[in-house]
Amino acid sequence: MIYDLAIVGAGTCGLFAAINSHSLTTVVFDKNSGAKKLSITGNSKSNITNCIKKEEFLERYGKNGTFLRDSFKLFFKEELINFFERSGFDLICKDNKVVLKSKTSEEFAKALLNKAAKSVTSFRGYEPVVDISKDRDIFILNTHKDQYYAKNVLLACGGKSFPATGSDGSCYNIAKKLGHGIVKPNPCEVPFCCKDVKNLQGLSFKNVHLTLKTAKKRFSEYGDILFTHFGISGPAVLELSKNDFKHAKLFINFLGIKEQELLELLTKKNRKIKNIVKDIMPKRFVDEIVKTDKYSKEASKKELKEIVNSLLEFEVEVEKCSFNKAFVTCGGVSLREINPKTMESKLTKGLFFCGEIMDIQGSIGGFNLQAAFSTSFCAMNSIKSRFLT
Ligand SMILES: Cc1cc2nc3c(=O)[nH]c(=O)nc-3n(C[C@H](O)[C@H](O)[C@H](O)COP(=O)(O)OP(=O)(O)OC[C@H]3O[C@@H](n4cnc5c(N)ncnc54)[C@H](O)[C@@H]3O)c2cc1C
Repeated sequence: MIYDLAIVGAGTCGLFAAINSHSLTTVVFDKNSGAKKLSITGNSKSNITNCIKKEEFLERYGKNGTFLRDSFKLFFKEELINFFERSGFDLICKDNKVVLKSKTSEEFAKALLNKAAKSVTSFRGYEPVVDISKDRDIFILNTHKDQYYAKNVLLACGGKSFPATGSDGSCYNIAKKLGHGIVKPNPCEVPFCCKDVKNLQGLSFKNVHLTLKTAKKRFSEYGDILFTHFGISGPAVLELSKNDFKHAKLFINFLGIKEQELLELLTKKNRKIKNIVKDIMPKRFVDEIVKTDKYSKEASKKELKEIVNSLLEFEVEVEKCSFNKAFVTCGGVSLREINPKTMESKLTKGLFFCGEIMDIQGSIGGFNLQAAFSTSFCAMNSIKSRFLT
């Protein structure tokens, strides 16, 4: 049988493509059962898009954002929200993030997977595609089990992050073989790994000011962080991790105030320094970091300066953790060879892309799922239009 369409990857954009495949004969492949990454999104509440204005939206994808302009024209957040509300998922906008209100991301992923499996001719889980070639107008897809034929192929295999979910970057080689350039994949939106902060594990801080100093540059970010068993995570760290570096020094200003202000606070009354700091920082942090037992009037300038530094310039040597802990992949199939109006390859007719496999990534806050759904819709719109005449 020659399928109209073969979808490689049953993650976010592959499943949505399957649901939208309607009257086409479609085969879907996945390395796993499918929907694994989607089922762990948004801390179990799938942050599917963002409430910020349309004009600001594209800016959240950095220099490659304009690539999404056409697919957003076709299918943007209003359409996405309508689609899921009609499918029985109530959504809510919380701190600008559109998240599931009552159901969990696991239920969300399962529902999408079931709907996708019912919408297509053949759903082949646990059957990764290992090679694709083209003979005249027909694509030949090889798996370890069999060979399949299709008039169109949608590569929906994701990036390289969280490889346990199935997206391990294996499709980059397939895209390469079909002529496409790959922008070197890097772990992005990834926590920082470091050895020195294990004793602070579990402590979280709101609205801290971070400064990252690399050999050549300095970057800063403002937001929430969390100390974990391997290092430091949280939205502000994930955002900083998008910058290009391997090793760096991170300076944390926990209080967001200046040195003089803190010095005044520490010396205003003659109390035990530890107790003053406990008024503004978690007890466990103070017990770990503030070693002196002195009253403020007894403390030397040097001792006071050390305390100020530990609260306003807390220094940690960090490196980006690996792909295993990254939320998204920076890099991927080069956008230069993909038509943004159709998601079709400019090099191989009938080959389409959607989602994270491409060199496009957004900030945290629902931008990656919106891009996956919009590019999926755009690709399917083009593929289906081929069968109309
Ligand atoms: C923990 C975590 C939380 C996240 N939370 C959010 C969030 O709340 N909001 C947000 O916007 N983004 C979030 N993201 C990012 C978001 O999940 C991804 O950007 C998005 O799922 C990408 O969709 P995709 O379809 O391109 O790839 P994926 O969803 O990764 O799907 C790719 C699929 O392809 C399959 N595959 C790979 N290779 C092959 C092959 N050779 N043959 C067959 N199948 C193959 C994989 O098994 C997988 O199922 C999160 C990411 C992580 C890791």
